[in-house]
Amino acid sequence: MNKVALVTGGSRGIGKGIAIELSKAGCSVVINYRRDEVSAKETLEYIKSIGGYGEIYRCDVSSYKETKTMVDDIVGRFGKIDILVNNAGISKVGLFIDSSEEDFDELINTNLKGVFNCCRASVPHMLKKGEGAIVNISSMWGNVGASCEVIYSASKGGINSFTKALAKELGPSGIRVNAISPGVINTEMNGWLSPEEKKSLEEEIPLCRFGDCEDIGKAVVFLCSNASKYITGQIITIDGGML
Ligand code: NAP
Repeated sequence: MNKVALVTGGSRGIGKGIAIELSKAGCSVVINYRRDEVSAKETLEYIKSIGGYGEIYRCDVSSYKETKTMVDDIVGRFGKIDILVNNAGISKVGLFIDSSEEDFDELINTNLKGVFNCCRASVPHMLKKGEGAIVNISSMWGNVGASCEVIYSASKGGINSFTKALAKELGPSGIRVNAISPGVINTEMNGWLSPEEKKSLEEEIPLCRFGDCEDIGKAVVFLCSNASKYITGQIITIDGGML
């Protein structure tokens, strides 16, 4: 794939796995991050070490203005944006009764508005070319809801509907939009789990382990490739059979 891909939150965790797999598939990858420049640089260095090409770009996806500037800069530098992977996201765990207005704004602005911002900035460029692939990283909790992650679940449920609706609107223009709903994946987002909690969660997963970032990255490559050219508007759950 000789494509230009933007991976939001590509510096670490699942986004890093996605950036690496897209790079292995031949894409030039822009690794977006918000704060952790060290991790973004390390990911880029790794991609270069395996013969890939990429750049890092700091931008807070919850900002409409910053996001538009980022996408316009990418198109200015590379001439196009073929693939958008909306992966950047945050989670907050706690009782609904303890949640605040600030928690709601932060989760929705990052997880859901961030997807809107990046799509809104990228789609006009894709429309000009009459092609493009967008993959949104949702969560299995967006499908079924999680206790103690009510706002997070709502942000991901919103991504699922957003994905289906945008796919219908953009299909006739040659742009495919899909989402991946990961189950429990080995990243810092799950760093708060104790060894006992990890073990008991693993026992609930039919494939007996947490997912790897690579598992998600390979599915993203599939959804951006010609092999999936008749797939759009789908929410693909990758959870080791947990749900
Ligand atoms: P992670 O390890 O915490 O990494 C999050 C990434 O998002 C980092 O690169 C971070 O960059 C970036 N980010 C956060 N807020 C941002 C913002 N406002 N603007 C730009 N970048 C931002 O998380 P992860 O576990 O890889 O999760 C990635 C995605 O998968 C999220 O959408 C998450 O909801 C989803 N997911 C994860 C799991 C799981 O089990 N891990 C399961 C289901 C779904 P900085 O560090 O520079 O801020």
